[in-house]
Amino acid sequence: MPFNPLSVTRFAPVSELNSLLDDALLVVDPQAWFAARGRLSANPRSLVRAESLDEAVLQTIEHSPEAWVGVQRVMGLGGGTAIDTAKYLAWRKELPLILIPSALTVDAPFTDSAAVRRAGRIHYTGRVFPEAIYVDAALIQTAPKPLNRGGVGDLLSIHTALYDWKLSHERTGEPYDPRIAQQSAAILERLHAHTADIYAVNETGVRLIAELFCEEVYLCYQAGSSRPEEGSEHHLLYTLEHQTGRTYLHGAAVTLCALLAAYLQGNRPDELRALADACGVEYRAILHEASEQALRNALLTAREYALEEQLPYTFLMETPITLEQAQEALEWVQSK
Ligand SMILES: [Zn+2]
Repeated sequence: MPFNPLSVTRFAPVSELNSLLDDALLVVDPQAWFAARGRLSANPRSLVRAESLDEAVLQTIEHSPEAWVGVQRVMGLGGGTAIDTAKYLAWRKELPLILIPSALTVDAPFTDSAAVRRAGRIHYTGRVFPEAIYVDAALIQTAPKPLNRGGVGDLLSIHTALYDWKLSHERTGEPYDPRIAQQSAAILERLHAHTADIYAVNETGVRLIAELFCEEVYLCYQAGSSRPEEGSEHHLLYTLEHQTGRTYLHGAAVTLCALLAAYLQGNRPDELRALADACGVEYRAILHEASEQALRNALLTAREYALEEQLPYTFLMETPITLEQAQEALEWVQSK
């Protein structure tokens, strides 16, 4: 049976972890630490600030003897960077791991590998399973609402990823499981039914996002790949980040890329945009952050990047996107 992250997810306050802090190395991002501190009565054995997913930075922590004195467990408290840093360190050190997302910005707390950056490109480590994932709604609600709303980006990506998976099956014969695809599409339906809770970031919304992340990750394990949730939209984002040397708020940026991909796939883009808007994803902010030119370049070269990186087959591999198509997609996403 594949591992279901929901089986280790606890919808409980972080204060339950007080007794475990004494022999823990806690990786934090500073804002999350500030928010959680009042809820914890003990200090961790060792405190590490998450700064970057560059492997060189992670290795420096791994090889700092003073950070590991008396440490029996790794905990990660924060957003994507703190979570992935903790996962990386637990994996390298073969120590038990507890994850405490301070906002539901990405599905990283629920996946079984850590993202690391080598020479500006994202790679994934071997498998790492947490003993617990704490989803403390009160803590998560201290994060700015747009951060939590943006988390649905890694669910909205299902819309474009499923298109790519089926296309790949037709073109390359890659195995395709209609039952898993249907269950993955059902995640979008549940999201659709609860957009008001997502927008409000209330307890129901927080719990739903966590449960849907678990479901999505579990479907990926069953499929034996990330096909049920990752396709051209992620590849487009990786291209953009590689070209600009920057990282963007993941959920919002994935949403923007999913919208562009859906438009170019001819895959009900207006429906996806309505869902993203109802959840309050601020994907338009990414349009300002990354210039239009950078986005256009990413659209024009995503195919090359995907081929170079030997990424799974998607609609990007079909025929190169023309300048006119790229322009049209960018105008559509900015319209309204
Ligand atoms: Zn993602």
